[in-house]
Amino acid sequence: MRLKIENLSKTYPNGVQALKNVTLDIPTGMFGLLGPNGAGKSTLMRTIATLQEADEGSIHLDNLDVLTEKEEVRKLLGYLPQDFGVYPKVSAEDMLDHVAVLKGITNGRERKEIVDTLLKQTNLQADRKKNLGGFSGGMKQRFGIAQALLGNPRLIIVDEPTAGLDPTERNRFLNLLSEIGENVIVILSTHIVADVSDLCSNMAIISKGEVVLKGSPTELLATISGKVWEKTIDKTEMDAYKANYNFLSSRLFAGQPTIRVLADSQPDDSFQGVEANLEDLYFSRGEIAAAEENALVEG
Ligand code: ADP
Repeated sequence: MRLKIENLSKTYPNGVQALKNVTLDIPTGMFGLLGPNGAGKSTLMRTIATLQEADEGSIHLDNLDVLTEKEEVRKLLGYLPQDFGVYPKVSAEDMLDHVAVLKGITNGRERKEIVDTLLKQTNLQADRKKNLGGFSGGMKQRFGIAQALLGNPRLIIVDEPTAGLDPTERNRFLNLLSEIGENVIVILSTHIVADVSDLCSNMAIISKGEVVLKGSPTELLATISGKVWEKTIDKTEMDAYKANYNFLSSRLFAGQPTIRVLADSQPDDSFQGVEANLEDLYFSRGEIAAAEENALVEG
């Protein structure tokens, strides 16, 4: 199975161009769509999920035309939107059972088996009788994926699923995603670089509606391998380093900043060569560093 997106563009009525000529070829396995807030990820996810129209371009799932054959696509689709509401007074088990009926699983015994398996898979068995209104963020996301997996989807879209989860729940959720299977397409949209580096065999980075990098994390990392340098500096020197180097990021150790910069060769012997990571790649795109900084300023 293959998802082909070609020259997809979308401008909202308020004039915001959320997607500009997006072209992506997505094979089976986990695909990470990475980008800062406002990059256009949700717009793209909703369009693939047949919930929104594009202005131009095409999307094909094998031979299916996603933009016109919506009903057919929906039969193959599992979608976990960024924000989804739950009925607070219904239990996880009853809700899954109800959605299973809607998905056409009418045989009661078969339905019970499927719901049991999904509750087990998402580690919600012990909480099956609890009302969804009392679920924590992590439990709710796991319930969401159980719901999205009903009916054996071949294309699974999860939009920013780890935002707001604590590290334990985030790991649990990512492990769950990685177990979903090798023969389906899973598209994970996120602004968290580690979500992608931990899991995805293919990825793309989008910024301001445009694809700025795509490929396998390994391939992409090779392009900056041996070019990332680290140095501990004084706080007062930060602005000068930002101005004079191809600055990637900084973090504090015991109150003192350690910076990472990109350069073809060692800038001077006060810099140490370090292994490049996906975050370096992400910040090596100046427009992304700027977008992330704006997002921080805007809170
Ligand atoms: P992301 O998911 O990467 O945060 P979105 O797809 O939500 O990005 O948004 C991309 C851009 O489109 C943003 O500038 C956002 O404000 C704008 N946008 C999203 N939805 C709408 C809408 N319904 N109407 C107008 N503008 C929108």
